[in-house]
Amino acid sequence: MGLSLTVLGCATPYPSTDNPCSGYLLEHNDTRLWMDAGTGTLGPLQRHTRLEDLDAIWISHLHADHSADLLTAYYALLFADIERDRIPLFGPPGIADRLAGFLTNGPQRSPVEDAFEITELHDGHETTIGQLRLISRAVHHGIPAFGVRAEADGVSLTYSGDTAPCPNLVELARDTDVLLCEAESAEKTQDMAHHTPEDAGDTATSANAGRLIVTHVGRFLSPQQAVARASSRYRGPVDYAAPGSTFSTP
Ligand SMILES: [Zn+2]
Repeated sequence: MGLSLTVLGCATPYPSTDNPCSGYLLEHNDTRLWMDAGTGTLGPLQRHTRLEDLDAIWISHLHADHSADLLTAYYALLFADIERDRIPLFGPPGIADRLAGFLTNGPQRSPVEDAFEITELHDGHETTIGQLRLISRAVHHGIPAFGVRAEADGVSLTYSGDTAPCPNLVELARDTDVLLCEAESAEKTQDMAHHTPEDAGDTATSANAGRLIVTHVGRFLSPQQAVARASSRYRGPVDYAAPGSTFSTP
């Protein structure tokens, strides 16, 4: 079986009434990965899986629109009706201390590590969850940030996280079947921390991706504009990561 990606939300930098911030459920057979835990994504996640059945969480970077629902997941895991072992959590360097600072009002990590089994990412980090192989590469977002490539059964999906165009992302996405790429910026600016839609098209073309899904479209762009502008630079199929939608590889 291939990979299935469900969009829990993709709004930035704050959720709208019908679109939480960034979060995705990636599934391969019985393996379930929560990829980015942006504001408001824990609710819709449970339309598709119980927290008990989640195999791991992967966080691209520590901006709140990609990580804030780790805080509420912590309360679910430790103080409610959820009975399970710690959830493996992969995230940028500093994630354990950041969660401890917020959740324990101090440096003690112990309750946080009762909920999450934390692994801090580095450029080139690889791990296997079920039969899903995950490769993380550092990307350019002004703070420690990662993109990820998930592979199983000969198919792959690559997620940019938040990043300016960068060689590591193109390498990571080389010949990928699906590129889920952010397209936050309406215009090029000096200190780019994001892709414009044209950049997303260029990244998909450079990487020879099989299809492009634009996501994390900023407040100054419509999804239709983002798709049209990305399509001007990439010849393959382009879609928008509409909240609630599911994309499957062959
Ligand atoms: Zn973001």
